[in-house]
Amino acid sequence: VGKNAFGNATAESIALAVKEKQSYAPQTRHIGYEAYREAGGYQLWLDCLSGKRELESVMKTMEDSGLRGLGGAGFPTGRKWRIVRDAPAPRLMAINIDEGEPGTFKDRYYLEHDPHRFLEGMLIAAWAVGIDAVYIYLRDEYHACRETLERELELLKANPPAKLPAIYLRRGAGAYICGEESAMIESIEGKRGMPRLRPPYVAQVGLFGRPTLEHNMETLHWVREILEKGAGWFASHGRNGRKGLRSFSVSGRVKKPGVHLAPAGITVKELIAEFCGGMLDGHEFYAYLPGGASGGILPESMGDIPLDFDTLQPHGCFIGSAAVVILSKKDKARDAAVNLMRFFEHESCGQCTPCRVGTSKAAHLMEAPKWDNALLEELSQVMVDASICGLGQAAPNPIRCVAKHFAHEV
Ligand code: SF4
Repeated sequence: VGKNAFGNATAESIALAVKEKQSYAPQTRHIGYEAYREAGGYQLWLDCLSGKRELESVMKTMEDSGLRGLGGAGFPTGRKWRIVRDAPAPRLMAINIDEGEPGTFKDRYYLEHDPHRFLEGMLIAAWAVGIDAVYIYLRDEYHACRETLERELELLKANPPAKLPAIYLRRGAGAYICGEESAMIESIEGKRGMPRLRPPYVAQVGLFGRPTLEHNMETLHWVREILEKGAGWFASHGRNGRKGLRSFSVSGRVKKPGVHLAPAGITVKELIAEFCGGMLDGHEFYAYLPGGASGGILPESMGDIPLDFDTLQPHGCFIGSAAVVILSKKDKARDAAVNLMRFFEHESCGQCTPCRVGTSKAAHLMEAPKWDNALLEELSQVMVDASICGLGQAAPNPIRCVAKHFAHEV
């Protein structure tokens, strides 16, 4: 009592847990197939298949819950289900567990501890949308997760609660860009992982040319709980006018880094104080990355912005997959920005010139002791305007943030 599953003894976490009469924090021990079923797992899916749960009410609950894609894009889940369901069969499903965004490790956490919760969410989505085959794309660096998932899928297939759709587990090959949905689909098809031009969108023409429901793993992790507790349960959480829960992957100069389940709209200062045990001794809060490599860098003075989809855009940043990196006064924002640009240079798929050449040129320019801001801004605008996918479009975020908020460093 007094601590949630992550060891956070905060008034907020306790109050939320009491309010819900149970902690919604994820499990800290691994739950295998038998334990999951003994605890009532897969009953909800069976209720869907048997008609006890009606399709329209499931769809409406997902829409009303406000659940959005937690891989970073934030597209409303219920709406996505309806769009793909309305597309002609056969329909396929692709699940993104590539989790390559620097600083993000929430999917790994949920997969290690409660894999069947995600698998049941996947089966419910497949039922609701009318999916014929499911492809799970797993980051290849997650060796232990692959072992877990292979084992648990085998157990599920050996003793299924009901007839399963075809489920394939595909290994990634270490490319950041394969976390982009259309590049992931290319990779699953056996091609080089390069983003496609859109339209058509993957919901219409996706995997093997078929309408495809593409989801981040964590999005599916929440399906069971939302359908059991109701749309209002998920939407009842949140701060500063935002709704829902977010799994923040926090790293950097805090006492308790890790996955912290917190209300959507929490500010970074609240997150550090209430969930991360404060700053490390000897470190003072200086800056933060609200959304991994591509989400930009903000100064401490802007640490009261609600962290959620849409709230950071006016500041040239975004939350993405909620990977929050905390910097202290012993760090420099420019060092982080140079590091990020080198990362983008390395991970650019090379398909389009503004990104392939732009990231390389930018990394070179950013190494100068004094930045040529006019030239960097011109280059940034070309990358934003003319890159095919989000990698090239978001790569200038660190440049612009440092030029604007940390001008004294450059
Ligand atoms: Fe590839 Fe970069 Fe172009 Fe995206 S923006 S398609 S990563 S070269």
